[in-house]
Amino acid sequence: VKEPIIGVLALQGDFAKHIEILQSIGVRTKEVRTARDLQDCSGLIIPGGESTVIARQLEFGKLHTQISHFAKEKPVFGTCAGLILMSSHVQSSALMPLELLDITVERNAFGRQANSFQAFVELHFDSHHPKLFPAYFIRAPRIRANGAQVHVLATYEGEPILVRQGHHLGASFHPELTLDPAIHRYFLEMVKEVIA
Ligand code: GLN
Repeated sequence: VKEPIIGVLALQGDFAKHIEILQSIGVRTKEVRTARDLQDCSGLIIPGGESTVIARQLEFGKLHTQISHFAKEKPVFGTCAGLILMSSHVQSSALMPLELLDITVERNAFGRQANSFQAFVELHFDSHHPKLFPAYFIRAPRIRANGAQVHVLATYEGEPILVRQGHHLGASFHPELTLDPAIHRYFLEMVKEVIA
């Protein structure tokens, strides 16, 4: 079986933390800045940061089109700003998302930087036992609506915060800021399923 390489979009934001946590579980990683970098990858993580800045860079470097193409076959996981970029609609914003997840998001809807918070949430990866996970919300987007094919894997105060649609995954919080690799392991399994 081919050893997967997970790419992390490294244009802006906290990509280094994703690389650290992936390497801590023995995954090969690659910083992705160009379409060429993408070619080696079996999956891609779009990190948190500033979604408007990342969106502009994607369009400027033609990566927007190339990631759309990549995503037809390969898994993409977006966290926070990355989730915004993967959505199908961003409320009151001119940002052009990748439309990989059938969700409508509202940016900064959990409050400003000073309102950042941590909460223990339940991950529902299988029907047996939910797993507790420390979720960090930093100017996080809210998922305001989601389509029928979107599976909700975790909620906070009744709202979806971790969602999966087909081979794509999105979180409104920052799973890379903890020492718990549970969500990265889950994404790794999604990647392995596709290349198996
Ligand atoms: N508020 C940021 C945005 O809209 C996202 C914040 C984050 O990724 N921590 O891009």
